[in-house]
Amino acid sequence: MPEKVTLLSVYRYLPQTNCGECGEPNCMAFASKLLDRRATPDNCPPLKKPKYKEQLAKLIELIAPPIKEVKLGVGENLVKIGGKEVMYRHELTYHNPTAIAIDVSDTMDDDKIVERCKKIESISIVRIGDTLKVNMIAVRCASKDPDRFSYVVSLVARSCNLPLILCSFDPKILRAALEKGQVANKRPLLYAVTEENWREFSELAKQYDCPVAVFAPNNLSLIKSLIKTLQAIGIHDIVIDAGSYTEGNLLRDSVNNFIMIRRAAIKRGDKDLGYPIMAVPAVVWMVENQEPVIASYREACMASLFMNRFADLLIMHTSEIWALLPVLTLRQNIYTDPRKPVSVESGLRVIGKPDEKSPVFLTTNFALTYFTVANDLESAGINCYLLVLDAEGLAVEVSVAGGQFNPSKVKDLFTSSGIEKMVKHKKLIIPGLAARLKGEIEDLTGWEVIVGPRDSSQIKSFLTKYWA
Ligand code: SF4
Repeated sequence: MPEKVTLLSVYRYLPQTNCGECGEPNCMAFASKLLDRRATPDNCPPLKKPKYKEQLAKLIELIAPPIKEVKLGVGENLVKIGGKEVMYRHELTYHNPTAIAIDVSDTMDDDKIVERCKKIESISIVRIGDTLKVNMIAVRCASKDPDRFSYVVSLVARSCNLPLILCSFDPKILRAALEKGQVANKRPLLYAVTEENWREFSELAKQYDCPVAVFAPNNLSLIKSLIKTLQAIGIHDIVIDAGSYTEGNLLRDSVNNFIMIRRAAIKRGDKDLGYPIMAVPAVVWMVENQEPVIASYREACMASLFMNRFADLLIMHTSEIWALLPVLTLRQNIYTDPRKPVSVESGLRVIGKPDEKSPVFLTTNFALTYFTVANDLESAGINCYLLVLDAEGLAVEVSVAGGQFNPSKVKDLFTSSGIEKMVKHKKLIIPGLAARLKGEIEDLTGWEVIVGPRDSSQIKSFLTKYWA
């Protein structure tokens, strides 16, 4: 069993001088931030002194997550995968959302490759204030021609800024791509080390400092043995591919393998399996004469299943937004912090071009509530002011019941937002679900409170009746 990391065990390795150079009042407060991953040992300057060298090494080892964090690519689009500390999200939180890569084959025409890269890079869905995107491109060598593959890798790298996965089991082809494809300094993920090619592959990974994927379908003992070999050579940026079968018993085996790998690393502290896991739902496209719509649908199901069972990286083939939508949405849901309600900043929002006669609405800072109300106001073309109350990220009904939505907070919001100087009337429209606070808000603010609809989609018809 791995050692349980506690506040005291982290504190033990800090200088314990309470000097405050980290911006915290004392070392115990800093230990708490380290434990929550809101700070790193780098943020404690005294720890860099030679006399703390041994302590620092022990601290880094102590707080390292059981699943290694692996960085793919470089620069602003660098993708971090792994870094997980717990089996299940409700135990703490998940860091580093599953990266999604879409494949490009080197047998496609050049103009189609450029078009596909641009499409992949432009995929973007805004949901509850987050922009959901695809993270990587996997370039597949289907031609088996090193020159063609190198050319396509360079074409892809010139056409988009996403980090790459270079896919070929032939190390000579990958070497050519790294040397002639102008991506040697971009840390692409090299896919994949197998029982047959590990020696040449590891030389390549060492020489170019690239992360590697280890591939041994449905064979965990071979995966462990390959990883041990790579570790002995000094390669530690590793991603595990234990096979992504999508049919019958083999699908069951794939899911079980994912669970066994993650459990061994987190529950038993098995360092040989403490690496991110990848899945390749794109294999569903290998079935011949399949309708593309059916393949995209099956691929989205497989991607969701593997992501639910710990996949840190997915290689997909579909670029259809309707098929990616459930996968991106599921990823957003899995990777929100369960300890914090999803919230937006409180304060005043200006919708359209309001003037001194425009209505003033009130809502809470629960992200889903806020974006629903703001979108309904915008799409109805209503020029207005929207006051967003800090209800600790809770929805209207819950926060009214729990007291986070209360008249004195509304009064404070009036003062901090300056709304009283922006309009000539003194009328506030509150959500229908907060109707019972009408009298108290009126007493405290001196404004007339109008109880609005319970559902913000009804605001337009509500205004027609109640707002001159
Ligand atoms: S900088 Fe380091 S030694 Fe100083 S208070 Fe922070 S944690 Fe403690």
